[in-house]
Amino acid sequence: MITVYSDEHKYHHGSGELFRGSVVPCVENPDRASEILSRIRTIGLGDVRPAHDFGLSPVYRVHTERFIAFLQSAFDQWKSISDNPDALPSAWTSHRPSAEEPQSINGWLGYYSFDAGTPITAGTWRAAKAAADTALTAQAIVREGAPAAFALTRPPGHHASSEQYGGYCFLNNAAIAAEAMLRDGADRVAIIDIDYHHGNGTQAIFYDRSDVLFVSIHADPAQEYPFYHGYAQETGNESGEGFNVNYPLPIGTGWERYREALDDGLRRISTYGPDALVVSLGVDTFDGDPLGKFRLTSDNFTEIGRRISELSTPTLFILEGGYDLESIGLNVTNVLCGFEE
Ligand SMILES: [Zn+2]
Repeated sequence: MITVYSDEHKYHHGSGELFRGSVVPCVENPDRASEILSRIRTIGLGDVRPAHDFGLSPVYRVHTERFIAFLQSAFDQWKSISDNPDALPSAWTSHRPSAEEPQSINGWLGYYSFDAGTPITAGTWRAAKAAADTALTAQAIVREGAPAAFALTRPPGHHASSEQYGGYCFLNNAAIAAEAMLRDGADRVAIIDIDYHHGNGTQAIFYDRSDVLFVSIHADPAQEYPFYHGYAQETGNESGEGFNVNYPLPIGTGWERYREALDDGLRRISTYGPDALVVSLGVDTFDGDPLGKFRLTSDNFTEIGRRISELSTPTLFILEGGYDLESIGLNVTNVLCGFEE
């Protein structure tokens, strides 16, 4: 399988995030991508290709212009009030989207974000744009006939909505790629999100639409981040009704229960009959991940890839979460190798 990778991800390296009341080193860091790339080369998964620059028009199909302008300029404004290398919000609006857009950087940060775990650094925009280009380059490889491709992206994307960032995510790489598939002629695209955390941003972007089916298997938001979205009763709105499917699972979920949700989600996708599939590939479902509390093993990831391949649909894998550096390379490549088997 072809991997698309850009070194530019290294420009996003926050020093700290607010976690359980303390500022701690960011778990979403460049070592994650390095570990996966190293494993891909060790096992000889396939070609590793650079990302092309697609400009901003595919990004604007998902995100608003004012949100992009904010991401591009936030750090420069932050520098005028702070020497801290991480711009973090400390106040949030409770009246989105009707509140007036603030005119100060502290107000702006809270207006466009939903947590304090996602610092904007000097290189964040550059890295986030490169991640979107990485996803779009891999999408083009699938469009040109490859059965699958892997976009080795960071920062991740599935928590970002049209104009909010958070959960380590700035641009929604999976949504941008899905929109590119539609523009390239797909009538229907399915996204399956197997990250431990609900893909609230992706859900929000496509919630009113029937041309993208969103299926997410994740930890119950009653217990886990992102807390306010990801419940089973969130099934879509208006013409999108029935095209949003959530499988919230309890803390401690192991393979048996996970497999039931996966198989049911894959059945829903098969019935939908998409022209292309996007996999939001998070491996923080691994037993031992510092953020996740599921109990999947490395072998289970091989089986996940194998089951996804049974859809026989052109498939674009896009990296989301996964924070155990010792296992992340193995677990990600196990999904990809399971698919190729
Ligand atoms: Zn996650």
